[in-house]
Amino acid sequence: MKKYIYFFGNKIADGNSSMSPLLGGKGANLAEMVLMGFNVPAGFTITTEVCIHHIEHNKQYPENMREQLDIALKEVEKTMGKKFGDTSNPLLLSVRSGARASMPGMMDTILNLGLNDKTAEGMVKLTGDARFVYDSYRRFVMMYAEVAMGIKGENKNHSPFDEIIEKKKKSFGITKDTEFTAEQLKEMVKEFKECVKKYGKVDFPENPVDQLFGAIEAVFASWNNERAIIYRQMNNIPDNWGTAVNVQAMVFGNAGEDSGTGVAFTRDPANGDNIFYGEYLFNAQGEDVVAGTRTPLKIEELQKQDPDIYKQLEENRHLLEQRYKDMMDIEFTVEKRKLWMLQARIGKRTAMASIKIAVEMVKEGLITKEDALLRVNAEQLNQLLRPIFHQDDKKKAIKNGKLIATGLNAGPGAASGQLALSAEEAEKLHAQGKKVIIARIETSPEDIRGLRVADGILTARGGMTSHAALVARQMGKVCVAGCESLDIDYDNGIIKVNGKVVLKEEDFLSLDGSTGEVILGKLETTQSEVYQVLVSKEIAAKDAVIYPFYAELMSWADQFRKLRIRANADQPDQAAIAIALGAEGIGLCRTEHMFFGDHRIKAMREMILSESDESRKKAITKLLPMQREDFKQIFETMAGRPVIIRTLDPPLHEFLPKDEEDIMVLSRDMNIPIDHIYRKLESLHEANPMLGLRGCRLGILHPEITEMQAQAIFEAACEVKKQGMEVEAEIMIPLVFDVTELKSQKDTIRKVAERVFKEKKIEVHYQVGTMIELPRAALLAGEIAEEAEFFSFGTNDLTQTTFGLSRDDAGEFLNLYLENKIIEQNPFKTLDQKGVGKLIQMATLAGKKTRPDMQVGICGEHGGDPQSVYFCHKNGLNYVSCSPFRVPIARLAAAQATLKDR
Ligand code: PEP
Ligand code: MG
Repeated sequence: MKKYIYFFGNKIADGNSSMSPLLGGKGANLAEMVLMGFNVPAGFTITTEVCIHHIEHNKQYPENMREQLDIALKEVEKTMGKKFGDTSNPLLLSVRSGARASMPGMMDTILNLGLNDKTAEGMVKLTGDARFVYDSYRRFVMMYAEVAMGIKGENKNHSPFDEIIEKKKKSFGITKDTEFTAEQLKEMVKEFKECVKKYGKVDFPENPVDQLFGAIEAVFASWNNERAIIYRQMNNIPDNWGTAVNVQAMVFGNAGEDSGTGVAFTRDPANGDNIFYGEYLFNAQGEDVVAGTRTPLKIEELQKQDPDIYKQLEENRHLLEQRYKDMMDIEFTVEKRKLWMLQARIGKRTAMASIKIAVEMVKEGLITKEDALLRVNAEQLNQLLRPIFHQDDKKKAIKNGKLIATGLNAGPGAASGQLALSAEEAEKLHAQGKKVIIARIETSPEDIRGLRVADGILTARGGMTSHAALVARQMGKVCVAGCESLDIDYDNGIIKVNGKVVLKEEDFLSLDGSTGEVILGKLETTQSEVYQVLVSKEIAAKDAVIYPFYAELMSWADQFRKLRIRANADQPDQAAIAIALGAEGIGLCRTEHMFFGDHRIKAMREMILSESDESRKKAITKLLPMQREDFKQIFETMAGRPVIIRTLDPPLHEFLPKDEEDIMVLSRDMNIPIDHIYRKLESLHEANPMLGLRGCRLGILHPEITEMQAQAIFEAACEVKKQGMEVEAEIMIPLVFDVTELKSQKDTIRKVAERVFKEKKIEVHYQVGTMIELPRAALLAGEIAEEAEFFSFGTNDLTQTTFGLSRDDAGEFLNLYLENKIIEQNPFKTLDQKGVGKLIQMATLAGKKTRPDMQVGICGEHGGDPQSVYFCHKNGLNYVSCSPFRVPIARLAAAQATLKDR
């Protein structure tokens, strides 16, 4: 006979901590605590299989389940010495959800089940405490009515029961719940039941067995309530796991001043300190602590008032850590000076705590270095590097209705400043020493000046790999992208939400780029400690609090990982940050980003607009020294580490102005007739610029651009080498679909190299390789490798071209696809292993077959995504390249990949 019900209590348990898929985390750990000899109120767990059966079979239970439940309930009665539904010595029950993965607060719970008018009177006789009994009773009626019967009043935002409580407080002239008398509470129970009748059109169930099954059904149904579904989507929890139900004897923290209830962590979940960290409320039930209706005391208060109980808790704390080898989160109740453990689970923690606990547990001999590395969430490392808001300030602002919109969390961290709606305005505010948040409907390369001075970037359109998002991450800027509810009106300098003006230029606003929240007003931020030690060097490592733990963990990661980590950087300062954070080279220097400075864009425009070879050469001569200086500084900063420099990639029209006024200025500055500019713009116009004249096609059509870039690279390299420094230059050709394209560009570059080396009387080692960004290139990788000395997968474009999805426009319907589960993950964020991954696999194999020692990496935004890093490790890539601030994430993810693969 299949087992559906697992009993636990009085040192006997059918389950244990390894059975969370079947018993849920809570059920498995309750069983384990019983086996560890803790006092746990007896109870039983109804398995997750029953939940799935119940959902799939129109609310029917599997055969035998009820019989098994009856037997378990009898066992609970025997253990607790009470009887369910008995009028003289009643057993009361709690009914709680408990899924395999913890989903805190997402599903339903019912306490004090089994009370009716008769059992309540029995309880009064037994305890001699009518106040306590009727307090429990009114809580039960309210909870059951709301959760199991779905009772709602007229006001959607207010429970009708809360309204009754508030009205009564007023009429009795009291302020706290604890001030109600027994009589008043008894009366309240009656009114609550009338309220059920009024709004639910049925009587409140008096029969305890009916109550029990009503509660079990409610918990199962709550698996599919809206917030549980959303939580599962956010945390990738499968819908078919189901929840278990834990039915357990009630113990009462509200049985007097010698009782109480608490929650605690075996270490501090915020900073990881090895201290017992918790909160306690005397004379209260669990939900009083969780719901925040009363402010709890620090757990040390319990130590003062009841040292015995505190000592037992301390002992349990150590036993739990020894058993689970992790930081645990516990709930407990004290009933008349007896300690009962109600829950234990692995505690949630900040990144800072996560690192400190993992490293200290290795030192304590509890876990191995490998365990420690696998335990820290790589993505969470972001928290250690980015500026942050003071959490209390942010919560307060949100509570005060200041949250105006939520977009994509495209560039993590916190930024607060004054609103600018254009690059010029941003620069103006910045020049006045103000902090700036730039908001654009979408960004174009021209905005880069504004982006550079801004602390935060906000866009109404665009996804995670939109230009704004990737530039922001690379620059380490905070960014909220694709915030569709914002109506940005450049002409009037305002932003509206739902037709209402919420912001004017120069107003203060705050962005949380880690959560995507846009908040009105100014919030204070601080730079993270790790950043202050490694990058800005404001704190010495020896004076740092969390840095030593971070450094130790990262050194372990470097011992284990096989993949090398490079960074996408195109400015010397970005390169310096990348090295500080552990990058071993540059995997992508997007040279076009070097052309957006004020003088440079002019020279660039001059080159694009020139009609004759002569004038084009003149423009190029202006660009050359600027590029050379850029490369020189990057080579110097990288000090011999490899640097991949990509030749020009974007369509040329991106460098030209779009609005009338700017075109007029350009015409005046360059002494070119306006209609000439318009003609040029027209000739450069493309219906589909992402698939148009860009990438290597530019260099093939205008070899002088590639020549200039190659000359700048080689001259810079020679100069740096002459200074006695090593240089490792790797020139990369974008967007090739055939080996012939690469060959043509390579020839151009080789010729320039020979010329420059001869002139400078020195040679530097260099390679010419290619990006694999088009499916055709991936299919023909074996052939392409005959010319390419290295490969780098541009997974942004490769995703775009493989899916036929524009990376800039897909945001809106991709969200819909995700919501409707047409796709599981955003392919621009986490590599699509099935399709794009297959191309990468094939191309890597074919490339290495032709050229066995060839280095292969990726440099799309996926390079900093842990799941994608794992894929790269599995498939024999040599390195990943990501934005500088994601380098630590990639280092840890690469170590985890090695360990998972063992
Ligand atoms: C890519 O396509 O993945 C890439 C790195 O190039 P870009 O994002 O500049 O197009
Ligand atoms: Mg690309």
